[in-house]
This record gives sequence, C-alpha cells and structure tokens, in this order.
Amino acid sequence: MQKLSKEYNEEDYLMLSGIQHFYFCKRQWCLIHIENIWADNQATKEGEYLHEKVDNPLLNETRKDVFYSRGIPVVSKTLGFSGILDMVEFHKSSTGIPVKGREGLWEPIIIEYKRGKEKKDQRDIVQLVAEVICLEEGLGCEIKYSYLFYDKIKKRQKVEITLKLRDLVYELSESMHQFFEKHETSQAENYKSCSRCSLYDLCLPRMTKKKVNVKNYIKNRIEEEE
Ligand code: SF4
Repeated sequence: MQKLSKEYNEEDYLMLSGIQHFYFCKRQWCLIHIENIWADNQATKEGEYLHEKVDNPLLNETRKDVFYSRGIPVVSKTLGFSGILDMVEFHKSSTGIPVKGREGLWEPIIIEYKRGKEKKDQRDIVQLVAEVICLEEGLGCEIKYSYLFYDKIKKRQKVEITLKLRDLVYELSESMHQFFEKHETSQAENYKSCSRCSLYDLCLPRMTKKKVNVKNYIKNRIEEEE
C-alpha cells in the first residue's frame, strides 16, 4: 500500500468529493471551493437526490455473509480530505479485518453511486480511489478494488485500485491544496462540456479562457494545413 510521508492538519482538510470537479475542470473546483460559488442545474439536482437516497445511515442492512453500511464519515491525513461514503459492503473473508460487534473477518468494498453512465474520463474513478485511501487509513487495511454504480444503466463498474491511480490521486490532492493555500482561481479552458456546466453563466469561460500563445497557434495552424 502506497503512503506519502506528508500529513495534513484537520483544519486544512478539503472536501473529498471535490476531487471529481478538480479532475474535470480546475476552474470549476476553484469557483466552488475557493470562491464559494454554486449554481444548480438538472444534473446536480439529480445527483443530490441520488445521494440523499443512498447516504441515509439508518438504512444499514445485513444479508448472509455480507452486510452494508451507508453514509460512513471518513478522513485521510495523507490526502488532507474528509467526506462521507455512499455505501460500503463488508464481505465475510478469511483475509478480511475484524469489525466491532461482528464475528469473523470482513473485507470492505466501497460502492460509489453516480448518476448517468460510465464517463470517458477518470473523474469518477479518482473520487472512488480517494475514498478507498480514506477508508484504508480509517480501518488500517488494504482495499484492492471497489465499484462505481451508475443509476441510468443500473450497472456496477469494477475499479482496480492500482498504484498508478493512487499516485494520480495524491498528485491531484497536492495540487488542490496548493490552489487552496494560494487562494488562487484557475483560468477557464474552453472545454466542450462547458455548455452543460451548472456554473457556465457565472464562469463565463470564453471571457476568462487561457490566453493562446500566438507563435504556437500559427505554428500549429501551418502544420495542420501541410
Ligand atoms: S463553464 Fe467550463 S471552464 Fe467554467 S467552470 Fe464550468 S467547465 Fe469549467
């Protein structure tokens, strides 16, 4: 299991779920978490409703050789994150860990609920991996895989928690803390998905878009035309 020597103080913890925004668009994360700007659209409302249904900690269930725990608060000192997990499945396993009040050993597997279907990028995956690192620190165990569950297609996507993904999550968390410490908001990029972003009218991406290097722009256009 990878562990970085750096540890954050509790007062510096950032919201775990923010890593998906940061991966998708740094500016979106900065607007939400540094400038405290938020606006809802249909997608954010649907996501909120989905998590309200899942996060209720009173909905814990037990079945044979597996029990479910919902709405679990977690923190990670090494990522400097805190958050709440949608659902953790505990499977009875000889390679698991002891759980207070239950006989035997149990292997934890996180299920993160998402609206829609699998994304082309890794924004949901980095959130799940960050959740795994948090739960590992809390329980003192290693989690080899977990799942994303997409409500539109009613399908689980298995995610192997590789060293490469763990490294990516640590890189992202470090960058998030740097932005937060400097209180600096990233400039907009002209993303194709900006039109579907709930912050579009507040962000004004075309007006705040990164300046293009003119030399590179001309060079690229000449290369494209050759
Ligand atoms: S409108 Fe585009 S650049 Fe602005 S926050 Fe949303 S995704 Fe990012």
